[in-house]
Amino acid sequence: MAKIEASSPITPDTLFPILGDRLPVGLARLAAEATHADDGHLIEFKAMQARSILNKSVSKRKLSLAYSINPFRGCEFGCKYCYARYTHEFLQPAPIVTPPPGTYDAPQQSWALAFEREIYLKENAAWLLEQELKKIDPRDEIAIGTATDPYQPIERRVGITRSLLEVFVRRQGHRLGIITKSNLITRDIDLLQQIAARNTLVLHITITTADAALARKLEPRAPRPDLRFAAVKKLREAGLTTGVLCSPLLPGINDSLRSLEAVSSRAAAAGASFLGAHPLFLKSCSRPTWLSFVREHFPDLQPEYQRRYASMDFADSAYRNRMASLLRQLCRKHGLGERSSDALLTRHVYAAAGAPRKPPAPARSAQSAQTTLFATA
Ligand code: SF4
Repeated sequence: MAKIEASSPITPDTLFPILGDRLPVGLARLAAEATHADDGHLIEFKAMQARSILNKSVSKRKLSLAYSINPFRGCEFGCKYCYARYTHEFLQPAPIVTPPPGTYDAPQQSWALAFEREIYLKENAAWLLEQELKKIDPRDEIAIGTATDPYQPIERRVGITRSLLEVFVRRQGHRLGIITKSNLITRDIDLLQQIAARNTLVLHITITTADAALARKLEPRAPRPDLRFAAVKKLREAGLTTGVLCSPLLPGINDSLRSLEAVSSRAAAAGASFLGAHPLFLKSCSRPTWLSFVREHFPDLQPEYQRRYASMDFADSAYRNRMASLLRQLCRKHGLGERSSDALLTRHVYAAAGAPRKPPAPARSAQSAQTTLFATA
């Protein structure tokens, strides 16, 4: 891996060491090679020049997350509940008709499906990051992977996320969270350790169920749960603060005590730093995909979803409180750090009752007492 010297002139080439002289032609060529997902879907990749890479949070909920970074636009994993599909609205030539919040059965829109079949690669991401980090307060939190998975399969070939980490390796004092469903993150342990030594770094592996068959239905192209638990273990053994996000909680599907017990016990066995979860958020862009999935695979649950989400995008407070209480109990039982589930992007983690969790066999103990976390897309 070529190093970027601080005194070197900053150019897209120096900020894409993983691609070297293949940029931009190489990335464009890679992007032009459509691949088939293993379920037969054709996935197209397209190189794009992003205008900026640090997206400022515009949440009205006064969350502490300041910026997000998404190295790709779109996501191969194609989770049925994904609420990041809106990021492909730009493919729509005409003005978008957005149904009012709570419209139960919104019409399917072609760009929502394109989100998982037409992936845009931000080829200048690292170059932009180097420039934009100079302009922000390093104490502002940054989350990588709020509207795409930064370790989806194409990352193995193009290394855009890795190129972003190479930028953070040369910086200090930042507060960084990474969210993924992929065990590919363990490829970058070397860089993650370097970042954690001089910055606050919290890793989040999303595992919605320990049941491989259910995961395959919900997240058709994401790695199996056992690979994700193994990634948690490996990251913890490398001394990195790593938790499990069991989000979203899907009423009637993965929110039973038995299902959550399975996730939390395996998270504990992997040495996870914490466990968090928040209920399904059903935006209009994700309703058609999710509701047709429920109709096909869980027809008996249709009335429940109709009741819960007919007039609002969020689960009601009674359900949120019940699930938060259940999560707290499970965290205490398994000695996992816990976090509240009433916010979407950032929140505090509280130490579990008793001694704070230690990694099973840490190579180093960096980042053991961090307090601010991020959630998943
Ligand atoms: S939920 Fe996350 S991993 Fe799944 S498709 Fe959306 S962005 Fe990708």
